[in-house]
Amino acid sequence: MNPYMRLKFEELYDSRVMKTFRKLNLFNSLFKLYILYIKMLYRNKPWKIVMENTNACNAKCIFCPHKKMKRVIGIMSFSLYKKIIDECVDLGVTNISLYRIGEPFLDPFFIKKISYVKKKGVKFVSTCTNASLLTLNSIHDLLNSGLDEIEISIDGNSKYVYESIRVGLHFSLVKKNIQTLINLKKEGGFSKPIIKLNFVKTEINQSEIKSFLNEWRNDVDRIQISELHNWGDSLFNFDISEPHKNKSTNIFPCRALWTELCISWNGVVSLCSVDFEDNIIISNINEESIKKTWQNKRLHLLRMNYDKIPQCKSCTSPLSWLIY
Ligand code: SF4
Repeated sequence: MNPYMRLKFEELYDSRVMKTFRKLNLFNSLFKLYILYIKMLYRNKPWKIVMENTNACNAKCIFCPHKKMKRVIGIMSFSLYKKIIDECVDLGVTNISLYRIGEPFLDPFFIKKISYVKKKGVKFVSTCTNASLLTLNSIHDLLNSGLDEIEISIDGNSKYVYESIRVGLHFSLVKKNIQTLINLKKEGGFSKPIIKLNFVKTEINQSEIKSFLNEWRNDVDRIQISELHNWGDSLFNFDISEPHKNKSTNIFPCRALWTELCISWNGVVSLCSVDFEDNIIISNINEESIKKTWQNKRLHLLRMNYDKIPQCKSCTSPLSWLIY
């Protein structure tokens, strides 16, 4: 959401009228109808597939649970990737995100993978990166790959703030890489990818939001100022920002269970992209197709018992916006 719109939305959310709305539980009734609509719409296939081409990362960001992840680190093989994409195409899935946790450009076949999915005709393909590994060559290849959207995580507008959050990365290099991407896209007359910057707001960097917006607003397509979330209550010892502190007791189903499938690099399908440890396994795509997984018993049971899943109860992920 546009940062200014978001501010307005937050003001509206806290207004007296909205408080009454929330007290009367009117939101829940409206959202229930919305969920019913979603269930009907995505009965036969997911709206989106989230694919982890790798869970390796080259940074140690302070708010990311990657540091404590116990899962084996790996890169999705091209043959498994191809199998998943071919199935998505057969099913008519139109939205694929090539990112979950990790830095996708650590995968040497990443651009080849993007080109493959776009050649297959999938409508919207996106990724998210810290931009530290972009090079002149990879930017050229990326621009020609057909990628629809690239989200770049950059949570500061000064070397000190950025490098105290994105530990292990270099502010000047990341800025230079983003600028090169912007320039080459312009010079080459490419309409894609949409370049979106994502700034996760914390107490450390909130004083830089204004200068950040001024710095980038004319050069990129979108800027998102997002709230820190708790990775399904896995993010300990970090001060979660205000709007997410108090959880409502009105548990309401998160849309992820009805709209998305999240596939890890080794083919495991787990609860959602927030379940970074693959604690709740739904299937293994090496053994069960996407279509069968979407309708399998385990996923059905999870949907039926959404209010009892421990991660979901305490989750503050943007996916779970229906909860509060
Ligand atoms: S509520 Fe959170 S943990 Fe549960 S499915 Fe949604 S995003 Fe995942």
